[in-house]
This record gives sequence, C-alpha cells and structure tokens, in this order.
Amino acid sequence: MGHRSIIEPFRIKCVEPIRMTTRVQRRNFLEEAAYNPFLLHADHVLIDLLTDSGTGAMSAEQWASIMRGDESYAGGRSYYRLLDVIQSIFGFRYVLPTHQGRAAERILFSSMCKPGDVVPNNTHFDTTRANIEETGAQAVDLPTAEGRLPAAIHPFKGNMDVDALETVIAQVGADRVPLVVLTVTNNSGGGQPVSMANIRAVRAVCNRHRIPLYIDACRFAENSWFIREREEGYAGKTPREVARELFSYADGCTMSAKKDGLVNIGGFLACNDEALVKRESRLLILTEGFPTYGGLAGRDLEAMATGLEEVLHEDYLHYRIASTAYLGDHLTRIGVPIVQPPGGHAIYIDAAAMLPQVPARLFPGQALVAELYLEGGIRAVEIGTVMFGSTDAQTGEETVAAMELVRLAIPRRVYTQSHIDYVCEVLSDVFARRDRIAGLRMVWQAPPLRHFTARFQPA
Ligand SMILES: *Cc1c(COP(=O)(O)O)cnc(C)c1O
Repeated sequence: MGHRSIIEPFRIKCVEPIRMTTRVQRRNFLEEAAYNPFLLHADHVLIDLLTDSGTGAMSAEQWASIMRGDESYAGGRSYYRLLDVIQSIFGFRYVLPTHQGRAAERILFSSMCKPGDVVPNNTHFDTTRANIEETGAQAVDLPTAEGRLPAAIHPFKGNMDVDALETVIAQVGADRVPLVVLTVTNNSGGGQPVSMANIRAVRAVCNRHRIPLYIDACRFAENSWFIREREEGYAGKTPREVARELFSYADGCTMSAKKDGLVNIGGFLACNDEALVKRESRLLILTEGFPTYGGLAGRDLEAMATGLEEVLHEDYLHYRIASTAYLGDHLTRIGVPIVQPPGGHAIYIDAAAMLPQVPARLFPGQALVAELYLEGGIRAVEIGTVMFGSTDAQTGEETVAAMELVRLAIPRRVYTQSHIDYVCEVLSDVFARRDRIAGLRMVWQAPPLRHFTARFQPA
C-alpha cells in the first residue's frame, strides 16, 4: 500500500465556495491592505494558510453534538461529558473550560506567577509569553541546539534543552520557578515534536526541585503521532495511549481546542491540585463564566468533547501528518528551502535563504507573503522580523529576528490534495522568479504585536 495516495479519510457533505480573483484585483486588494495579510478580506483569499487555529472543519458527529448541547447555566450535561472525555485522555481531575487557550494561560499564570519569577519553556508561544510577562515574571525559551537550525534533520527538534533547564534553576533558585512548561508540538519552533524521553527527563528535573510541570497541549495529538512514528518503543501503541502517558508526567495543562480540539472556538485548563483550582475558579468566574461552562455555550463544550475524541483517530492523524509532509516534500523537491523535517501543522519557508538579495530590514518574509498572494491568492504569514523585530524610536534602526520564515499553516480537514498541489504550483512559479523579488519598507507600526496592523510599501 506504500505506493498509494494517502487520501482524505472523509467525504464532503457541506461545501463552502472559494473564489478566484484576477491578478489586477489582487494587486489592488494587496495595496489596500498595505501588504499586510492580516488586513486582507478573507473573501479575497483563495487558499487561506494564515493559521490552523479555529479554521478546521467540524465533522457530521460534531455538528450533531452541537444540537445535543445543554445550555443550562450550571451543571450542564455537556460539561460533564467534556469532563469525562478530558479525564479519560488527559487524566487530570479538575477541568475549567475557557473560551480559548490564552484565557486558560491568563488564569494559570496569574494564579501561579509573581514579579521576579522565571518560567522556562521549550519555546513560548507569543500569547503564553505575553501572559507570563503580564504577571511580572520572565519567560525563558530553552530549545535544543538542533531546534535552532532550520536545515538540521532531527526527529524531535521541539525538545527542551534539559541541561539549560538545570542551569536556569541553579541560577535563579527553584523557589523562583513556579512552574516549567513544555509546548507540544513546539509551535514557534516550527511545529516540531517533543519526545517522550525529553518529557520524562524534564519531569525528573522538576521532581528533584519540586516544581510543577505543565503541558501547553494545543497539538497534543500530532505530537503523540510523531512519538509513535519516531520513538523507540511506541510503534505498537495507539495515539490515545501515547497521549495518556505523555500527560501522566504533567501536573496540568492549558489547551487551545482551536487546534487539536477540532473546533472553531474553545479551550480549557486542567490540573490535579484542588487548592489551585479553587483560586483559578474565582478568576474564571470573574472573566469567563461559571466553572461548568467557562466562556462557552453548552454546544461548544459538546463539539469540543467530540473533537478531542476524533483527533486521536489513527486514520485522521495518518492523513494529517502525511498531508503536511506532502507539501513539505514537494517544496523541497522544487528547491524551496524549508524548515526540516516538515512539522505537524505547518510548513515554514526559509525566506532569508530563498531571497538572499533582500536584507532583513526590508522584510524578506513579508515580501514573499505578498508574492504568494499576488501570484495565486494564497495567504501565508511572516514569522520573522515583522513579527519579532523592533524599530528603535530614535535611530530608526531595525532589530532583526534570528530567522526569516514564512509559515504555511494547514487548516484541519479543510483543503484537499488538489488545493495543496495548486499551492505547490504557485510556489514553483514564485520560486522561478525569486531573484526579481524586492523587499518592503514598513511605513507605519503600532508595537507591541505590530505584525497585526503594520503597513508596508514596495522598497
Ligand atoms: C494557539 C496557541 C496558544 C493560544 O491559544 P488561543 O486559542 O489562540 O488563545 C497557546 N499556545 C500555543 C502553542 C498555541 O499554538
């Protein structure tokens, strides 16, 4: 069967039209959006690879769950169903639903962190870092050496550097490290997985210093699949068994169900600590809602419960990881430099390597994003100096990012293989004329998180 296509393991019951635009129209739309993909109207996009967050397609079973949602204010049936599902996969006793991942983060970190604290993570996602720093604590990234090299091939490039973790704890003292976080898969690090051995090693360090370990669980199912495929001793296990073991090493987790919850909105915070969950519930009630619904409708809880079950189906995960690799392998064959090996939810193009004539201060990633839209109506996002750099207010000097990447994030169960083939064709055409692509000048910005609203002009 190795020679056969890995087909979408579903058939399509409901369709949403997408519309082609002309190049002249796209040129106008792009100028109106000041060369920022966040300012484009989604209706003017043909293939939307801006993010895999909340952009997935729900199944017939999830839509049926929506109709079964219990909208009681307190103690709703849908909450207890979600609690059952989460307890059986994640193994945590207490579950607080939230409207999305960052709400769980805000509640967790404002309950656990204080000024002067340090929170280590393999790599913090931007909202995770922002919510930690909001409490006055410091967020520290500890990726491994190979995790920092785009072209290096390694099965678990998302791992945390365990020696660096020991060093940080020794430097600041365990009493100033309220928790350690592991992000699975490592989103900001290229969607790369974390190995079970690494999770166990981090757990052992946490045990020695009596520090709780939390998992940022957004892509736990994709990470579980990679462990099963790549790590010694897991080949015979189901993704669910792998996930169970993974979470057995943790004291709790935050989850954005907009990723591996297969829903358009939702998240949760889970743990085993009764005293902590009481403090967290007070905050939840203040800003999200009563603890049995968080910021969600009963139907959302119900769809999330069904999504968490479906995301662990082997046919689904096989297709999901294979279809991301399909895009990555195809681009590699054409010669497009990407972060290797392909991760779970996205392909990251190395724009600095593809457009060496464009210096970082003229944003090669943003320039490539603009070209992909102009060429074929594809929307991607820059992960480089626009997102992580900054401009000195006095000198106008640009502090540039370590890497200039363009992320093609793949929504779950939304696009077919022919859509992805089209993406490869467009990229191939852009690649053929890559030496004629010029940079962009940033003409307006509003930090922090300037990438959402910054405006550009051709340089
Ligand atoms: C998306 C994401 C979050 C935040 O979740 P939201 O639902 O967008 O608030 C946190 N961590 C990681 C790794 C993510 O990918």
